[in-house]
Amino acid sequence: MCIGATQQTLDEVIEYTKTRVAFERPIARFQGVAFPIAEAATYLEMSRLLCYKVLWMRQQDMDHMLEGAMAKWFVPRTCMRILNDCMVIRGHLGYSESLPIGQRLRDVSGWQIGDGPPQIQKLFISRKLFGREFEPL
Ligand SMILES: Cc1cc2nc3c(=O)[nH]c(=O)nc-3n(C[C@H](O)[C@H](O)[C@H](O)COP(=O)(O)OP(=O)(O)OC[C@H]3O[C@@H](n4cnc5c(N)ncnc54)[C@H](O)[C@@H]3O)c2cc1C
Repeated sequence: MCIGATQQTLDEVIEYTKTRVAFERPIARFQGVAFPIAEAATYLEMSRLLCYKVLWMRQQDMDHMLEGAMAKWFVPRTCMRILNDCMVIRGHLGYSESLPIGQRLRDVSGWQIGDGPPQIQKLFISRKLFGREFEPL
């Protein structure tokens, strides 16, 4: 859910930057615009691959608690950051209710909590990495 909403937003923002002209050139030609989008595409791909890995492990009946917990905190947080960057690049309309970025930001924001908040996912990860006797408080 997080990746779908974020990918759609990223695709829309890329199209916008190719058509919006400022200082006599499309804003896509400014590194300050293109590089955050390049980073976002990279992080989104990492998120997608992590999710595929967890789903694949589940299908193989493998223990996927560690990777599942990693995906549950990393993907919503990553998508939140990307959506926020997209909103800034889309300018005032991106913030307004005329476009769906704000709604998507709220939707993805809920998934930072909905499937278990990040602190709890990191507790699971720590438990797996260090063992229960070193469980952080
Ligand atoms: C969009 C959305 C969908 C949801 N869907 C469902 C659903 O389908 N089914 C369902 O049962 N629930 C659902 N929830 C509820 C969700 O699971 C809980 O909100 C979540 O587990 C956090 O519990 P809480 O709200 O009681 O917060 P609290 O337990 O009060 O936690 C508050 C804060 O304290 C932190 N915290 C708590 N304990 C610890 C600890 N031991 N160590 C460190 N930090 C800690 C938490 O991480 C959190 O940041 C949903 C919530 C949202 C926002």
